[in-house]
Parts: sequence; C-alpha cells; structure tokens
Amino acid sequence: MTTVSPVTPSPVSPSVEAEVQRFMKRVVDRTPSEPEFHQAVHEVVESVMPTVLDTQAYRDASVLDRLTEPDRVISFRVTWTGDDGAVHVNRGYRVQFSNAIGPYKGGLRFHPTVTQGTLKFLAFEQIFKNALTGLPMGGGKGGSDFDPKGKSDAEVMRFCHSFMTELYRHIGEDTDVPAGDIGVGAREIGFLFGQYKRLTNTFTPVITGKAPQFGGSLLRPEATGYGSVYFAQAMLEHAGEGLADKDCAVSGSGNVAQFTAEMLIKLGARVVTLSDSGGFIHDPNGIDTEKLAFVEDLKNTRRGRISEYAEKYSGATFHANERPWGVPVFGAFPSATQNEINEADAKTLVANGVRVVSEGANMPSTPDAVHAFQKAGVLFGPGKAANAGGVSVSGLEQSQNSQRLSWTRDEVDQKLHAIMTSIHAACVEHGSLPGGGVDYVRGANIAGFTKVADALVAFGAV
Ligand code: GLU
Repeated sequence: MTTVSPVTPSPVSPSVEAEVQRFMKRVVDRTPSEPEFHQAVHEVVESVMPTVLDTQAYRDASVLDRLTEPDRVISFRVTWTGDDGAVHVNRGYRVQFSNAIGPYKGGLRFHPTVTQGTLKFLAFEQIFKNALTGLPMGGGKGGSDFDPKGKSDAEVMRFCHSFMTELYRHIGEDTDVPAGDIGVGAREIGFLFGQYKRLTNTFTPVITGKAPQFGGSLLRPEATGYGSVYFAQAMLEHAGEGLADKDCAVSGSGNVAQFTAEMLIKLGARVVTLSDSGGFIHDPNGIDTEKLAFVEDLKNTRRGRISEYAEKYSGATFHANERPWGVPVFGAFPSATQNEINEADAKTLVANGVRVVSEGANMPSTPDAVHAFQKAGVLFGPGKAANAGGVSVSGLEQSQNSQRLSWTRDEVDQKLHAIMTSIHAACVEHGSLPGGGVDYVRGANIAGFTKVADALVAFGAV
C-alpha cells in the first residue's frame, strides 16, 4: 500500500518571507521585462533563503546578489539569406551566467519566442543543474528568435553559419561550451561545429551533442529523456513503487519526449500521449516501439505534425490546441517547454490520480502547479534535477574529447545512471521532511546552490 505524504515544506517564517520579498523586488526592479527569469529566481531564493540567512559567509559575500546577475550577456545581429535571395535579420544571444565551478555550459535554443529573459532563466537554472551533476560545469545558455520550422536545410545552414560567425569569438573548450536545446538538434550542431572549425582552423571540441563521427558521445541524444525516467524511477523506488504497467503522459515529440517514451516503453510502462505546438495525440492502446519509430521519422526526418499519428493509427485521437494533462495517468513527463502545466492542469492530474511527475523540460510547471503537486503528495522531480541527464552526458562528452577516447554506449549509460542516482540522493539529503516525504524542489535547489555559493566565497569579491 502506497503512503502519500503531502510535501508541505516547513512554514516559511515571516522574517524569511520578508527577505525573499525584499530580494525579489530588487531583482524585478532591475530586470522589469523578464518574468520567466523572476519565476526561476524566486523558486531558488525561496528554497535557499533560510540557508543564506543562517550562513554569515554567504551574507558577507553577497552570494545571492552575485548569482542573480549574469557574468555577461552577449547580444548580436545574425544576418542570413533566404532561398529566394531575401536578406533576413535575427537576434542571437549567449548568456554567460556563472563560471564559478567550470566553463560556462548550456544549450542553444532557436525558437521565435526566445528573448533575453528566456535565456537568462535557462542559464540561471543551468547553474544549479550543472552543479548537481557533480561535473565541473558552469551555467550558460544562448540562442536566437530564429524559427527553424518551415525553413529549408540550406536556410538553416546559412543561419547557423552566420550565428557561429559571431559566437565563435566568445566560446572555447575552457571558456564556454554550447550544445543543443529546443530547435537545435543534430543538423544544427553539425552546421555550427563545421563553421567553428573553419573559422578557427582547429578541431576543438567546443560544442557537445556532436555526431559520433566527429567526437560526439554515444547516448548523448538519449540522455535527457533516459535521465528523466531514471530520476522518476529513483523517486518511485525511494517510495517503494515502480513504473511497470503504468500509464504515462509525455508531452512534446522532440528529442527529450522521444527518448523519455523509449525508456518508459523499455521499462514496461504504457505511453499514451505525445504532443506538439498543434495539440496532442492520445493512444489508449499505448505507443509501442513501432509507433514510436513512426514518430521519430515524422519529427526528425519529415519534420511533420503530430496530428498525422492519429490519421495513421486507429484508436488514437488528436486534440487540437490542447495539452495532454486531462488524460488520467500514473506518471506525467512534461518534455516540451516552460510553463506547459498550469495550476488547473496540475489539479486535474492530481484528481485523476497522478503519482509521479518528472520534468524533462526546463520549468514546465508553473509555481502554482508545483505547489498543487506537492500539496497532494505527488512525487515531483523539478527540471534542474530530473532533466540533468542531458548536460551530464555533455560533460562526459567533454571528458572523452579531452582524453581523445570514446566510451561504449554501456559505459556512458552506467555513468548516466550513477549521476541520476546521486542527484536523487543529494535531493533526499537536502530535501527530506521531518514528517516523511522529500521536497525535491528544495533538495535540488539547496544542493546545487551550496556548491556554487561555497566557490564564490572562496574567490573573494569577484
Ligand atoms: N539544453 C540542455 C539542458 O537544458 C543540455 C545542455 C548541454 O548539454 O549543455 O540542460
């Protein structure tokens, strides 16, 4: 019999709450048009403020102020030519947030909604996520408001080459090592790396997520999705439960969603949903390996819409402009984008009996949604812990590149599994509640934060 302990973090004392409010006011005043950044900062500050107030060295060193102001933000024009000869302009960015514990590390996102505030939230999250992996990686993120959707391969190539023509001067294997994110997959990484190599006349492993032929790690494409399922497994095992035979909802249908689904299927769970920006598909019979291969071809090669799934497989339905959270499931794996689960979605999932939520995407649940999950005793794995598998294998790719060696798939998988297990253990260590249960949000924030904060204290005022 499952015991469900509501995760109600010890009540925040009025003095701590007042400090959080005072601190957030200053952040918001200084960055008024960056709401996603405020959301990400608030979540961390709420968790770590008691530790900061109790630790004289952190207060003296102003660690929170230093960790909420990026080392630098680089913004640049990207000019590229369309197939019809028209000249287009997009904006490119790299946010180098903190290199306290290693070179800046984090992906590049190409999506029309990308703003400086989006990338600051993502780079900020990356600081703590990367610290949790135990590998020496700082936090950064970059990207552009360029939309690869509907562009030809040649247009994407010209955009990527132009983007790297500016970015190359700001990155380096000991400085800043980008990778993929939404809209940046194997095709884009190839174009970006090719241009870096041409511009510098070096074969420097300055980017991760490379194809295995030119230095990429085996299992890097799988790592975020597999890691998110390993994290869910770890949370369930800790509570004496498992995933076998359970229905699971996955959102998204890109890299993270595909490999989340693959691992869930492998572990005997039934994946009943996938989605894209047009809506979601529900297949009550379960998406099996063959159906998943169809989705991979649809999304990775043909770059089509998920609605085609419901046209191909009888019994499956397509729900335009909706998200999959109304489908009753045991496990929810949000693997699309930020704020894709709101409070109403979370309450619906809870009412339908959801037991575990593992965030494959970055910040997919709104703060109210997180609260609803925790109040109901749902095992909730926040993105900075649950989706750290991707950047972990990026770190392992860097290690292999430095050694000029390639590890086998099994070797990488074992290391990935060990990293996800140790992140889970760190969350339990820092997030266990007196009444039982684990606050994984607080655990992840405190474990990641203290490592970086201790480094900042050691450096003096830099
Ligand atoms: N974009 C991924 C993330 O959000 C991976 C970053 C990387 O591999 O550097 O963690």
